[in-house]
Amino acid sequence: MVVLLIPESSYDHSVTLNCNNITGNGPIRRVALYGKGGIGKSTVASNVSAALAEKGHRVMQIGCDPKADSTRLLRGGSKGPSVLDSVREGRTGLDGIVSEGYAGVLCVECGGPRPGTGCAGRGIIVAFETLERRCAVETFRPDVIIYDVLGDVVCGGFAMPIRDGYARDVFIVTSGETMSLYAAANISEAVHCLREDGCDARLSGLIQNSRDVQGEDELVSRAAGSMGTEIVSRIPRSRTVQECEAAGKTVIEGAPDSPQAVAYRALAAKILAATEASEGGLRQNYTQEDYS
Ligand code: ADP
Ligand code: MG
Repeated sequence: MVVLLIPESSYDHSVTLNCNNITGNGPIRRVALYGKGGIGKSTVASNVSAALAEKGHRVMQIGCDPKADSTRLLRGGSKGPSVLDSVREGRTGLDGIVSEGYAGVLCVECGGPRPGTGCAGRGIIVAFETLERRCAVETFRPDVIIYDVLGDVVCGGFAMPIRDGYARDVFIVTSGETMSLYAAANISEAVHCLREDGCDARLSGLIQNSRDVQGEDELVSRAAGSMGTEIVSRIPRSRTVQECEAAGKTVIEGAPDSPQAVAYRALAAKILAATEASEGGLRQNYTQEDYS
């Protein structure tokens, strides 16, 4: 059983990736939400996924936080099994690692090593490779993929969605709090450096998840300006979010007529308008021939 770093040797390279036979993916929007831990990425991601799914989109939300709690609000509050759990337990196939949540949103959790036993960034890399080998995207054919990524440290693993063609459009979730703006600046810098190295991802905007800090709008506007980007939406702080969370629901599901649901729907529409779809599987412009 693999407990520690989940080395590459832990999965079976003799299994031939044959996803192209399943095929017929249409173009896919590949969106990544980054931000400091606890800032509200998973809440934003789940509400945006739910809002898009209600509009008829086939959305896959991939949680890239070792806590594996990204999609809980889409699944009635329960945590699902993670990709890395599946690898550790020696299971194969997609059973259990892609589950349908609210309005048919496809829920995936990368998971992580047991606390204190390994590298979370490395875990993301193994999880993505596993999803590709098991043809997750070719089987479920989403037209929007949302990566929900912890951005406190943008190490190789957490940079992978940007670096290796998984995400095209990066949005940073931040409040006006200093530490969250600090993380946002680091993530923006990472996108910038990776672009200089030739990768195709771009910073598509900031999402302000308000904490009611004094002068918050101004602080976040200034940060956006210094990063050369825009604020896509300012999401209000609202008790409705926590009330729905207590019921294991997104606001879209639990309080569909609330002003907060209106804000998330407007954000979802703006994300659609600000992103581009491209061919490929889990990564853009990527086919079986590229996979060695
Ligand atoms: P992250 O995924 O960035 O770690 P979460 O989405 O889990 O953060 O959110 C952390 C906490 O903040 C949750 O308990 C959530 O209910 C709360 N929260 C997020 N956004 C809002 C908001 N706009 N108003 C009130 N509470 C919020
Ligand atoms: Mg989260």
